[in-house]
Amino acid sequence: NLMWYFVPPEDFFNYIQNPLEHKYLFIFWLGFTIALIAIVVFIKENFCIYMCPYSRVQSVLYDNDTIMTVYDYKRGGEVFDAKGIKLWKKPEALNAECTGCEACVKICPTHIDIRKGMQLECINCLECSDACTKVMGKLGKMTLISWTSPQSIEDRQKVRYMRFKTIGYIVAMVVVFSGLLMMGSKKEDMLLNINRQELYTIRDNGRVENSYVFLFQNTQKQAYDFYFEVQNNAEIQIKRPSKPFRIEAGEKSKQVVVLYTEANLAKDAQKDTHIPLEIRAYAVDSQEPIEVFRKSVFIYPPNKSLH
Ligand code: SF4
Ligand code: SF4
Repeated sequence: NLMWYFVPPEDFFNYIQNPLEHKYLFIFWLGFTIALIAIVVFIKENFCIYMCPYSRVQSVLYDNDTIMTVYDYKRGGEVFDAKGIKLWKKPEALNAECTGCEACVKICPTHIDIRKGMQLECINCLECSDACTKVMGKLGKMTLISWTSPQSIEDRQKVRYMRFKTIGYIVAMVVVFSGLLMMGSKKEDMLLNINRQELYTIRDNGRVENSYVFLFQNTQKQAYDFYFEVQNNAEIQIKRPSKPFRIEAGEKSKQVVVLYTEANLAKDAQKDTHIPLEIRAYAVDSQEPIEVFRKSVFIYPPNKSLH
């Protein structure tokens, strides 16, 4: 699926049959496959403990009101001191409910003791909570490990969902989604990708040519004839393609494009001159305007190269 994000599935299966012709695709596919198998078969929970970026990010976002897997130290009793040193296996404080059975520790896939507090390794799977529910259930009590916030354990109040941070996140998300919607509604009529080829060619008559590869994609539901024009410089002409070309609905078309000029665009320049180009590509035979605008450059040699 990851590879299909970059290479459409129908192309992927064709390409992968000829690995020598598609070396980079093959190397990436093989690399991802080996990495994923190694993670699942050998690295396992060590990925969560040492490699996963999520836990590093979440620890920055957390505060005392964040909902997570929390041990109720008020009911269960303190098992670790402030420095994380274990005081005893079973809390000895009067009324401490934790039995010290360590069912929560034994079942933890990342081998941590949640009674120590929030830790980077915790993946919030709540296995420890289920284990404690069984142990405490036999004693007719509620689990000591639950899905709540440290603050709600502290002050015995409900989790505070609406606070400055969450309201800030909601506002930020609304702004981002509104921006995405606005950008999404301005979908381009067609696609055009421009790649420059060699620097330039100087013909015997002094004509200067630049070549490009234009990749057009007709994203409309019907076929059209497409062509393009240089909008900002009348001195730069199109040599190739000489006439519009047809692209079927949803299809792509790669066009080798040669632009030329017979005018002196560099004056007395001693170095190559980069002349900005504004290209408008459009469907010739459409009633409604189907067009895109792209920028590129036309490179003109120093005058001494022309003589
Ligand atoms: S499972 Fe519950 S009772 Fe047993 S050690 Fe863990 S927190 Fe204490
Ligand atoms: S939630 Fe899962 S990872 Fe976290 S302490 Fe409990 S068992 Fe371990």
